[in-house]
This record gives sequence, C-alpha cells and structure tokens, in this order.
Amino acid sequence: MDTVWVLGDQLNRDVGALKGADPAASRVLLVTSDAKLGSLRWHRQRLHLVLTAMRRFAAELRDRGFEVDERRAPTMAAGLAAHRDRFGPDRVVAMEPMNRCGHALLERLGVELVDNDQFLCHYRDFATWAAEHERADGSLRMEDFYRWQRRRLGYLMDGDEPAGGRWNLDADNRERPGTDVAPPRRPTSRLDELDRDVLAHLPDGVWGAAPDGTWATSRRRALVRLRTFVDEALPRFGALQDAMIAGQWQMHHSLLSHALNLGMLHPAEVCDAVEDAYRSGAAPLNAAEGFIRQIIGWREFVWGVYWLWTPAYRDVNELAAHRDLPPVLAGDADTSMRCVADTMRSIDDHAYAHHIQRLMVLANLVTLAGVRPQQVVEWMGATFVDGSEWVMLPNVLGMGTYADGGRMSTKPYVSSGAYIDRMSRGYCSDCRYDRTARVGDDACPFTTLYWDFLARHRARLGSNHRVARQYATLDRLDDLDAVRARAAEVLDRLDGGLL
Ligand code: SF4
Repeated sequence: MDTVWVLGDQLNRDVGALKGADPAASRVLLVTSDAKLGSLRWHRQRLHLVLTAMRRFAAELRDRGFEVDERRAPTMAAGLAAHRDRFGPDRVVAMEPMNRCGHALLERLGVELVDNDQFLCHYRDFATWAAEHERADGSLRMEDFYRWQRRRLGYLMDGDEPAGGRWNLDADNRERPGTDVAPPRRPTSRLDELDRDVLAHLPDGVWGAAPDGTWATSRRRALVRLRTFVDEALPRFGALQDAMIAGQWQMHHSLLSHALNLGMLHPAEVCDAVEDAYRSGAAPLNAAEGFIRQIIGWREFVWGVYWLWTPAYRDVNELAAHRDLPPVLAGDADTSMRCVADTMRSIDDHAYAHHIQRLMVLANLVTLAGVRPQQVVEWMGATFVDGSEWVMLPNVLGMGTYADGGRMSTKPYVSSGAYIDRMSRGYCSDCRYDRTARVGDDACPFTTLYWDFLARHRARLGSNHRVARQYATLDRLDDLDAVRARAAEVLDRLDGGLL
C-alpha cells in the first residue's frame, strides 16, 4: 500500500497526489510538527485555522473511505519516520510543497513528488514565460503576465479581445468611500468541540483574539463564503477596492485568501464563479476584472516569482533598511496614529488586514521608517490567516517595501498622510495628528517620514521618472531641515512605542 502525504496547505481531495488516489491502494498521512508550531510567534487564529482545517480534512477523507494517519511529531521528518515504522508503505507520494524548505525536505526524505496543481500556472511554466518577458533591468511586470494568463485561460475574454475592450479597469476602482458604505454580510460558523480542542492545545506564546468563526476550516464552509462574497460583496468590491473605513475591517474584500492558500478552494472555481456573476449581469465588469486580476494575475505572479527568484531573493535589501520591527506592530505598544491603530485592531481581532491596509498603512510605515524587510516577512507570515512564505516574501520584498530595487514594482508604494486621507473615512478626521503638517508635535508621522524618505533615498530614487514629480515638490520645500529633524524624533518615538 502507498502513502499520500498531505501537507497542511494542500487540503483538497482534487489536487496533486490525492487527485487519483484510491482508498483501497493509498492511505493518507498528515503530520503536525512541534518544531513548526514553536518556530514563530503565531497569531492564535492563524494556528487555529491551519490545525482545525487539517483535522476536518482528515475526517472528510475518512468519510470517503481513506485510512488516515494523523500524527503530531517533533519534526516533519520524525513524523514520516514514525509513519514508515508503523505502516511500512511501498512508497510515499506527495504534491510538491508550497515552499522551498518543504520541497528540499521531502526530496531529502525520499518522498516522490508530483506537480503542484493548486495554481493555474505551474512555476516551471512561469519561468518559461519570464525568460521571454524579463526586461533589460531584470524586472518582470505583473501586467504582462496577467494579459498572458487572460489569453491563455480565457477569463473575461470576448474572442481575442478583453471583455469591455480594456485589460485593466483599475482607474475605475479608486472610489473614495462615502458615508453610505455598509459592510456586506459575512457568514460565520459556530465553534464546535473540535475548535475548542484545538484551541485548548495551542502552544504557549500565541497572541491575538480567539477565533469567532469568520474563517472557513473546511471546504464546505469555504464554498459558502465564496457564494456569499459573489452574491453580496462582489458588486461593490471593485469601486471600493482601495478604500479604508475606520471600524470596517473587511470592507468588500472576499476574505477567501485563507481558503485559497490552504487549498480548500481552487483558483479556477473562484474565478469561474466571479466570471459567471459578470456574464449574468450580477456584477459589473470593473469588480469582476479587479478580482480576477488579483487571482490569475497578482497571486499567480507572486507564486511564480517566489520560485524563480528565491533563494537569493530572500535577502534583498536595496534600501539598506535595518531598523527593528517597531513595538506597535509587534503588539507591544499602542499608538495614536488612527490608521495604524485601526489596522492593528483588525489584526488582533481577526489575524487579518485587508489589502490596502497592508500596503498603504503597514508596508508604507515600515518602508518609510526603514524597517528590515525580512522581519516584516516573518511577522506577516506568522500573523495573517493567509500568511505563507511564497505569498509574503514577494509581496513584502517586491511590492510592499521596494527591497528588491524595482524588480516587481516601478516605484516604492509610499505616501504621505494625504493619500491615506483621500482613500479613507474616519482615519485622519479623528486622529491626534494633522495629515497636512510636516513639522511640529502634531505632524502626521506618515507625512514627515515621507519627505524624509525621499530626501534619504535621493541617490537611489532621484532618477526614477515615476517619482520625478515628488522630487520636484521636495526641492521646493523650504523647511526640509526641520522636516528631517522631526523625522529623527518620529523614528525615535516609533522605536520606543510612543507615537
Ligand atoms: Fe494616519 Fe496621519 Fe491620518 Fe493620523 S493623520 S490617521 S497618522 S495618515
């Protein structure tokens, strides 16, 4: 009899080695590693989600006739060794792990690997595409890849042309949130005995609020959340994609990334549901296109980039950022910065912040402050319900912090308080800081640090035409010395948890 080893982020009967497996010929192995549980300062909901989803998946496979060996072991290798001692499988097969360390480990342990088909573009095919599309400076552009995916996969295509005549409707998706935006309905699941058992046995040191049933811990529950998103949130998702509202932690985002990243949903079925909504008139094109771009464009792009550029990419730090993660992000200090406090509340309550909070609040702050990007990768990976190395590493190093010097983004995603104010409601208006002020005790830290950042990195960024306008403005500031002095104070206070 064979063994199919299923890893904790491959929880789907219809992918990889499980796809063709026959319960009469294969048993299933699931290992929980103590070393992994003890390796980081995890958010409680992150660990609860993964461990509960693994146990529900084991039960689902048993219902389908499989014998399942669930093991807790000091390490993954020890778990496999104990399984081999107990069952003596003829061979052990697994789908390729989602990260490099896992891949190397399973190869070392003599596990037969089958291709990872949890994505729509295997990373080998991405590498082939990248070889043809890499620009002279070594960069790759998501938009090029996205159009290639659209043509190849056929999403939102009318013949050879994009539906509606435009490939990218981002320009329609920057609505400033009004006072009429109410959060869409969000399904939750009542916690049961299994949830409580997992919670009772989490390792010491986890932090954050206990789960409230927001996150799907089975495929069945994930499918309910997909349907609800498509029916109730998708129609306004596009227009509000970049918006933030104080107290509305989910906005109109899908909240499906955790289910996709654990394998409970496949990207094809998610995109099919969204395209169907557009074709039936239930969702506008800007919403469907913006969502499908996130999945077949950005998500698959970062997956491909992860395999193409790591391991060397892991250490990039082009802006020489060496500050430690500030206490406010580590959960060790409060803050008067309303936008940061609201985002941290969302993280504490749900192990989640939506895309624009991650990019324009968290990543913006750490980039402006010069926090070491590798610390940010680790923190986000341990903190967010959808945290995985393959997704966090390119998103943080490439898009969030410009640590790769522009291989993924044409310019750093940094802004002053003015942009945060423009795209939010209830942040700057209720903040102790003044978004328009650069100097003084009340100056918005984002605004002060923004001008200091540009001045600090002039040698690296000054010739980038995408920030030429900002440098022209910087050159007209008559108080730059005072701004830079205030920036030094702001950074001291950030380090001390006093902002
Ligand atoms: Fe954030 Fe500055 Fe606005 Fe306060 S004033 S909410 S710190 S951007």
